[in-house]
Amino acid sequence: MNKEPIGILVVGGAGRMGSRVVEIASREDGFTVQGIVDRRRLARDIGVPYFEDLEEALRSCGDAVVVDVSGPEEAGARIEAVAQAGRPLVEGTTGLDAEDELTEAARRVPVVVAPNFSPGIALLRRALREILGARGPGWDAAVLDRHNRFKKDRPSGTALLLQREIERPRDAATAERARKEREAAGGRLVEVASFRQGGQVGEHTVYLTALEEELVLQHRAFDRGAFARGALLAAGFAAGAQAGMYDMDDVLGLRGGA
Ligand code: NAD
Repeated sequence: MNKEPIGILVVGGAGRMGSRVVEIASREDGFTVQGIVDRRRLARDIGVPYFEDLEEALRSCGDAVVVDVSGPEEAGARIEAVAQAGRPLVEGTTGLDAEDELTEAARRVPVVVAPNFSPGIALLRRALREILGARGPGWDAAVLDRHNRFKKDRPSGTALLLQREIERPRDAATAERARKEREAAGGRLVEVASFRQGGQVGEHTVYLTALEEELVLQHRAFDRGAFARGALLAAGFAAGAQAGMYDMDDVLGLRGGA
């Protein structure tokens, strides 16, 4: 029996990331692009309904999962509108200041928050969790993110995600050690730096450095397709999930373990 394709509505669908989601979803059997919401039109007509207004799009696009890869402006109102319409939300926009709206939305609909959709970054976080659990004292941590010159937020949402992962206390003893290290470092525990260069799609490097040795973990995206395919996995997950807050670990089944 054929399953119904999952309808998606892509907010920011005319942008670098959104247009890649639209392009890949249009080719995939399991998905159908019900609409694009953007302030500006795509340069050419690709036969997908275009909306300037999100609420109009939500009324027109039946049961679509909303994939948001637009920008931080008016994000709170956007998230509320999606929850009000009872639609699952995949929130991939970075640099957001909308924690309250996301938490509130997750009471009513499934919300996947993913500053980075790529499966490789989810695996890097998992490897980090394992390494950090076994790390002894005396290792300094730093994160470097490199992105294209057009990227607006810095550090990247992924760099902040990795920073939080490294700073997250593993147990009471490490929590106390982290508190002391943070105090000694003047509030900063993990150094984060960002370069904005040319057409760089996205690179994240975690440095764990002791006095006499160093461990370097790096993820490089070659193509936005890595994020777009992850966004579709997240949309598929959200379409079948209960109301609640999720991330890529849930989507990829990486929750728990290390
Ligand atoms: P972009 O500037 O190329 O595209 C953004 C698009 O959104 C533009 O077409 C713009 O007109 C539209 N837009 C912005 N604000 C809007 C609003 N309030 N209402 C309607 N349309 C709006 O940028 P991009 O490189 O495609 O990145 C977009 C966002 O996606 C950024 O926050 C970026 O960090 C994020 N991103 C996330 C991932 C991920 O894996 N989660 C990957 C790449 C990019």
